[in-house]
Amino acid sequence: MHNSVFKALAYDACYTRTHLLDGAKLKATFFDLGLSGANVTVPHKEAAFQACDAVRGFAKTVGVVNTLINENGKLIGYNTDADGFMYAISEFNSIQNILIIGAGGTAKALAAKFKEENIDVTVLNRSEGRLPYFKELGCQTYSWENFELSKYDLVVNTTSAGLKDEEFPCPKELLVNIFDATSYVADAIYGKLTPFLSLAKEKNIIYKDGADMLLGQGVLANELFVNFAFPKESIKKAMSHSFEI
Ligand code: NDP
Repeated sequence: MHNSVFKALAYDACYTRTHLLDGAKLKATFFDLGLSGANVTVPHKEAAFQACDAVRGFAKTVGVVNTLINENGKLIGYNTDADGFMYAISEFNSIQNILIIGAGGTAKALAAKFKEENIDVTVLNRSEGRLPYFKELGCQTYSWENFELSKYDLVVNTTSAGLKDEEFPCPKELLVNIFDATSYVADAIYGKLTPFLSLAKEKNIIYKDGADMLLGQGVLANELFVNFAFPKESIKKAMSHSFEI
């Protein structure tokens, strides 16, 4: 995605990946590798927030960082996931009530953004431990054990269930009832039909995977990588092209 932009716009940079095993070593790894910027993914986005010298914009609200910039030797953190997701669901009509499944970094970013947009948010997670953040934000919160069903415009899977396995993000019996009360379904996972999306398809619910979210957050991250040297539309066009390759 990013290399496609660098190539199309003749920007002297290369985007590649490195496997960070220990979140506590994020800052040292970033500078040891001599990076100018980076994206951080599961499970290090909260560690990335801790590692930054300064955090800007929406990342400050949520305590979750997915984009890092080397600004004169200082590590600066941003969050582009939430705005990327808003872009992804902009084609769904009048979303006023959302159920988020999962309570990790992505869920935090989305919940805070939805609340900012005055959308009602319910969070359902496997365990209780991460729920207090969402309760404080004004969300309804449930674990699998005490979940109470309501009606939702959109249900989003932000867990990693289905990413490298064939698991549902919550027990299937629960999900069947949830989908019966839902207009749209979205998964943060992209590039595959997860069991979550497969069930939505079976039930004829309009659904989308995380590809548009990936594109949306990527365009915003790329603007930061190139320090706004190009118009957003040019970045988006070059980046979209990489999805067709
Ligand atoms: P985190 O590790 O921060 O959070 C994971 C959450 O998933 C936790 O709430 C955890 O529950 C829950 N979980 C993990 N495994 C299971 C399971 N087998 N069953 C039920 N719940 C589970 O992850 P992130 O928020 O950083 O990322 C989540 C997903 O979103 C990843 O798959 C990632 O690839 C995707 N993503 C996609 C993006 C895109 O651009 N399309 C952008 C960002 C993320 P518990 O608290 O009980 O441990």
